[in-house]
Amino acid sequence: MLISVIVPCYNEELVVNETYKRLKEVMSKVEMDHELIFINDGSKDKTFALLNELAQEDSCVKIINFARNFGHQCAVTAGLHNCNGDYAAIIDADLQDPPEVILEMLDLMRKEEANVVYGVRKKREGESWFKLITAKYFYRTLNKLSDVQFPVDTGDFRLIDRNVIDAFNSLPERNKYIRGLISWIGYKQVPCYYERKERFAGETKYPLKKMLKFAAIGLFYFSKKPLKLATWLGFLSVAVGLLYAIAIFIARLVNPASFVMGWTSIVLLVIFFGGVQLLTVGILGQYVGNLFDEAKGRPEYIIANKINL
Ligand code: UDP
Ligand code: MG
Repeated sequence: MLISVIVPCYNEELVVNETYKRLKEVMSKVEMDHELIFINDGSKDKTFALLNELAQEDSCVKIINFARNFGHQCAVTAGLHNCNGDYAAIIDADLQDPPEVILEMLDLMRKEEANVVYGVRKKREGESWFKLITAKYFYRTLNKLSDVQFPVDTGDFRLIDRNVIDAFNSLPERNKYIRGLISWIGYKQVPCYYERKERFAGETKYPLKKMLKFAAIGLFYFSKKPLKLATWLGFLSVAVGLLYAIAIFIARLVNPASFVMGWTSIVLLVIFFGGVQLLTVGILGQYVGNLFDEAKGRPEYIIANKINL
């Protein structure tokens, strides 16, 4: 039996050695062989050199080196595509998800005969209030909008078995929202509660721009409800238009002198309907853009080289 640990790394020179040490300690307690797959996602610092040193000393360390920065989700996907394990654990490089929790996940998986054990964050230390609030409401909103039910407060930190790895690897989707896709795959999935720690060192590699892109993929790939919003706004516009027509008509009957004064209301209506139309076009644009991405069929990532794989 083999367990693959998948670790995406982007500019993590301050943490990779420590991560390796902690993962090794944990793996020494697991009665299985292990491989540690580090994906170097186009780091601009010494991450790759450090990983290389580790790979030279320890053949369990395997490296997938991307040709440039493709993003966290692509890195994890590449790890899953290339892993040989009967189980795969997905974990961040920054030790925010304590590697020791993998042991609990393995226990739970055995006890519950589950196929997926996903980490649920009980508490999150050392993260900005902005991140905490946006994350909290994002997962809850997405859950309401989506056709698939997702567990809330869950990241990609999880343990999955070969059935799920194979199912995941057969998905043709290019912009992947991994936590959503794994929920969508199904099988038996159980939560494992843990406390998310502060980053061991360095800074977050998820600035607002990446967070928004990630959120948009989650939303537009898992929900068609925004398209319905366009229809509802259309109805609303018609209703407002009708009510306003009636109001004008009555005003004209009751007080014929007043109906010339209409500048404010005309401007308001123009703004309102303009807004509704732009919003609707924007939502359509998002879906068309996603279709465009999928239609191009470009690979999700380009691997420059692999080491020990
Ligand atoms: N990461 C990556 N590529 C990116 C951004 C992030 O591989 O473009 C990795 C990063 O090295 C880390 C994990 O994804 O191992 C999570 O990123 P981070 O800890 O910065 O995100 P946060 O925990 O702040 O949401
Ligand atoms: Mg982190």
